[in-house]
Amino acid sequence: MRPEILNPLFASVKTLPGVGPRIAKAVEQCSGPLITDLLWHLPTGLIDRRFSPSVAGAPVGEIVTLKLRVESHHKPATRRLPYKVHCSDESGSLDLVFFHAHEKYLGQQLPVGKIRIVSGRIEKYGDAIQIVHPDHIVPEEEINNVQRVEPIYPLTDGLKLKPLSKAIRTALQRAPELAEWCDAAYIARQGWPSWRQSLLEAHGPREETDITPGAPARQRIAYDELLANQLALMLLRASIQRANGRTTEGNGRLREIVAKVLPFALTEGQKQAIAEIEADLKAPHRMLRLLQGDVGSGKTVVALFALLIAVEAGAQGALMAPTELLARQHYAALKTLLSGSGVTTELITGRGKKSERETILTKLATGEVKIAVGTHALFQSGVEFADLAIAVVDEQHRFGVHQRMTLATKGTEVDVLLMTATPIPRTLMLTTYGDLNSSRLMEKPAGRAPVATRIIPLERLNEVLQSIKRAVRSGAKVYWICPLIEESEGLDLVAAENRHAVLEKIFGARVGLVHGRMKSNQKNVSMLAFSEGQLDILVATTVIEVGIDVPDATIIVIEHAERFGLAQLHQLRGRVGRADKPGNCLLLYAPPLNPTAQARLEILRETDDGFRIAEEDLKLRGAGELLGTKQSGLPQLRVADLTYHSDLLATARDDARLILERDPQLQSARGKALRVLLYLFERNTAARYLRSA
Ligand code: ADP
Ligand code: MG
Repeated sequence: MRPEILNPLFASVKTLPGVGPRIAKAVEQCSGPLITDLLWHLPTGLIDRRFSPSVAGAPVGEIVTLKLRVESHHKPATRRLPYKVHCSDESGSLDLVFFHAHEKYLGQQLPVGKIRIVSGRIEKYGDAIQIVHPDHIVPEEEINNVQRVEPIYPLTDGLKLKPLSKAIRTALQRAPELAEWCDAAYIARQGWPSWRQSLLEAHGPREETDITPGAPARQRIAYDELLANQLALMLLRASIQRANGRTTEGNGRLREIVAKVLPFALTEGQKQAIAEIEADLKAPHRMLRLLQGDVGSGKTVVALFALLIAVEAGAQGALMAPTELLARQHYAALKTLLSGSGVTTELITGRGKKSERETILTKLATGEVKIAVGTHALFQSGVEFADLAIAVVDEQHRFGVHQRMTLATKGTEVDVLLMTATPIPRTLMLTTYGDLNSSRLMEKPAGRAPVATRIIPLERLNEVLQSIKRAVRSGAKVYWICPLIEESEGLDLVAAENRHAVLEKIFGARVGLVHGRMKSNQKNVSMLAFSEGQLDILVATTVIEVGIDVPDATIIVIEHAERFGLAQLHQLRGRVGRADKPGNCLLLYAPPLNPTAQARLEILRETDDGFRIAEEDLKLRGAGELLGTKQSGLPQLRVADLTYHSDLLATARDDARLILERDPQLQSARGKALRVLLYLFERNTAARYLRSA
């Protein structure tokens, strides 16, 4: 249960005075539905209204706060012209200018002969100066409400700064003083204020430096968030480890059979990863391991051997892939490799005949089927295993945290292996998983030729087409990737279809097309035709990004490469150069490229090291982008920014570890304060692992 003291913060923004239904809706879209969302919505700039010159001394272009006497009102001859109010002080005069003015309102705001405090930006108009639509007009006694620094907040359509600022100010009044959860000596050393004071300071910047991530108030809140994050992960982990795991031990018989039919020898990295998994499975605790391996490093075989250990032990295994295409590919590969072993495997997706599906599900429930390969359909209700011992999740970041974990509930104490080709930088690993065990495939299988990467402006499309023509004539197979168009879902499809039409004109019928909105069997037909060599060119949207394995493909063209994430481009590039033939990657971009975009594409040309690419991408674009925000299953960090606060992350991890060593159930005074912290940052699930205090 959330501590009562926090309840006011978890109320809807609608409950704030002055926030009516229309503004509430806009605020919800901008920052979120709750009052806490407003608290974490920090300013990105400031307007300084402290400068208060005389009229004669007011510089053009600056924001000033002036003390003026209202002289006269001038109603325009037509509505198209502005309404003007002439004002002055001892040094000079200026006009306040209003378009589409409400005459009556202005008469009340600016009564002739009265003194008013007016703030806005000075503009030049002919020889005179003026302020168009002043931001503030108040009587003299309210000068302190105006002559100060105003925070600027990120806005969304239909939301103006004033109502949002006001909502945030009232939200801040609801923030209670909370018991300190940080180590007193640490915050003293850092010179950080209390949580509440930090919030007030973060929302009340005085200088430009106050809105940087290094400002003490912001650091403090970022640290709070990271501490909550690390504590939550450690609590989750402790609860998993407390739950009894199972001991799964194989005799190696099936692995031996399969190793004989493999067309290659396992790399050292693969062997080691398999050994690490084997040890985890054998140990009585529950396995939660991440297998990281760059594209083409051969994770699938590792997954297969992990599954085989479970089967050797008389249990079952499941392999889950994010797309149907990929699930089918895995299924086909596994089926071939398992053909001589007597191990039955079946494919489970959301599609297919109901009767067939029922048959498969029955066989799964009786244990006749040993290995199930599928999409998220695997963990839907109705899918039951006789005895699921291991769940492997491929391209795991494509699944939400919830989905990843549901598969694990399909059996008792299911061991989980997460696989990813998007190398996860250390900082992200920590905030996403805590200290998760991980295996890395560092080397690529031997004999791989490197992929030559070139960056080419779209204007040279014709040259590209010519060289593709030559290549296709000598037998090359080509992927042609069309850009993602973010604003509109339908447009990427149109782009792909248009490109397909153009290429068909040049290359004839041996050009195929796959995109996300095709029926799945259509997709499979095209993919299959391409992998079997009946097509020379496969035009695709990013549906082929994850995992598709066609060893004969040697060229990949990516249109509008500047619109893709680096890690994503690296993934795409990994579709070629998968066998012994050298690969080519042509990154087509629409000039002009800004320097960041240029730098990003250069990185790709310079290196083939997925880890370096990921680190660079993280630096250039921030964490959310790296893994694709929505589906990444990343914890939502509201304030902390890993590009700036990675030092704080390391401290938060050590701090959390120490706290839980001394007070595993958070029962002490500080422990109780930390419980509040967990709820404050909505780590409610983790808090529930604790005994009630
Ligand atoms: P990823 O790690 O990207 O999922 P895959 O498992 O799809 O990579 O493997 C990429 C390709 O490398 C496949 O064609 C696979 O058969 C092949 N492969 C895997 N392991 C080896 C190896 N040890 N030696 C040679 N080729 C291998
Ligand atoms: Mg793969």
